[in-house]
Amino acid sequence: MKTHSPRKRFGQNFLHDAGIIKRIINSLKPKDSDHYIEIGPGHGAITQPLASQVKQLDVIEIDHDLATELQAQAWFGDIRLHRADALKFDFNSIAQPPEMLRLVGNLPYNISTPLLFHILSQHHLFTDMHVMLQKEVVQRMTATPGNKIYGRLTVALAARCKVESLFIIKPGAFNPAPKIDSAFARLTPLEQPLIKPSEQNKFDTLLRHAFSQRRKQLGNALQELLCIEQIKAAGINPQHRAETLSVYEFIELTHQLEDSSIS
Ligand code: SAM
Repeated sequence: MKTHSPRKRFGQNFLHDAGIIKRIINSLKPKDSDHYIEIGPGHGAITQPLASQVKQLDVIEIDHDLATELQAQAWFGDIRLHRADALKFDFNSIAQPPEMLRLVGNLPYNISTPLLFHILSQHHLFTDMHVMLQKEVVQRMTATPGNKIYGRLTVALAARCKVESLFIIKPGAFNPAPKIDSAFARLTPLEQPLIKPSEQNKFDTLLRHAFSQRRKQLGNALQELLCIEQIKAAGINPQHRAETLSVYEFIELTHQLEDSSIS
């Protein structure tokens, strides 16, 4: 008998729809040789079917009661449990190069954006990442320039991953049911990221400035980083707004940034 009451502070909405769980596992196409890491196993809705199909599985759970409950399950076997905050987790600590990791998570919605940025900062460790998120966040992740939901997250992802929205999940698939629809997405790191490792910091700083006041023209939004001539030298009109620029244009702007101008 499960006695655990879902905790809002940990974004706990547990999957109970067997059809959706099957669809998630089918999308992963797990192989016996895979090394998976799952963020937020909860009661094990995804963990249990996945564990029976892969050689190595690590899970990160912040809720100690859930972690204790999981470890008591007979099926839990040799899954490695990390009682930790996924936002601070160093994925390097479980990677065994040259082996790559695969990631899956029905992510806690209250921290989904910072968690995505954290995962993204170690994207080179992963073959792919499958994540369940609010539908609205997945729409932002896959938005195109000129759209008002196109933003820092969209561009930061596009420079490093191919992003696919796989399917929508209605609130009734969860307990408790959230108020919003969810979506399951696949992120596949690009073999050649558009941004070089040495320019990552500059790129991320540029995006933070460009989208911090999205209604501002680029000339104003970027004034602490670039002068008008540098923006023009990147082939970009300084009167345009950040939301109209493609990822390639942000990369051109990054090339104009001096090392000394980043915080
Ligand atoms: N995977 C389960 C499922 O699909 O039913 C649970 C998903 S629930 C949306 C999110 C899970 O992430 C919960 O188990 C929650 O305790 C855990 N969690 C929340 N914040 C976390 C964090 N910062 N680090 C690790 N786990 C976290």
